[in-house]
Amino acid sequence: MANNKLFYGLVNLCLGGTLYFVTSMIVPNLLSLLNIACTDDWIISCLGLLELIKIISIIIVVVGVLEIAYWYFFERKKMQSAGGMENYKICPECKTINDKNAKFCKECGYKF
Ligand SMILES: [Zn+2]
Repeated sequence: MANNKLFYGLVNLCLGGTLYFVTSMIVPNLLSLLNIACTDDWIISCLGLLELIKIISIIIVVVGVLEIAYWYFFERKKMQSAGGMENYKICPECKTINDKNAKFCKECGYKF
């Protein structure tokens, strides 16, 4: 679980950042390169669409930051306060952190 939150957080951060970069830098440059004016008179407002995608990418970045923050403040702290990794068992199948005494993985059911 701990690793999953960090992983998805980083994925969202990269995804949102890339999406924002593409809509704010690459798409406007590409449009001006092709001599296409991005205006509001289109069937779908071009500027409005770009703004919408930018807002969505910012939301994705925020979700990513929240996931990493959650991992940092809850999952990571939980591991540290319990005295480090020797009190845990990492599932070889799905890499979930399980209790030391666990017989099965709580995520995928792997038998230890
Ligand atoms: Zn597992």
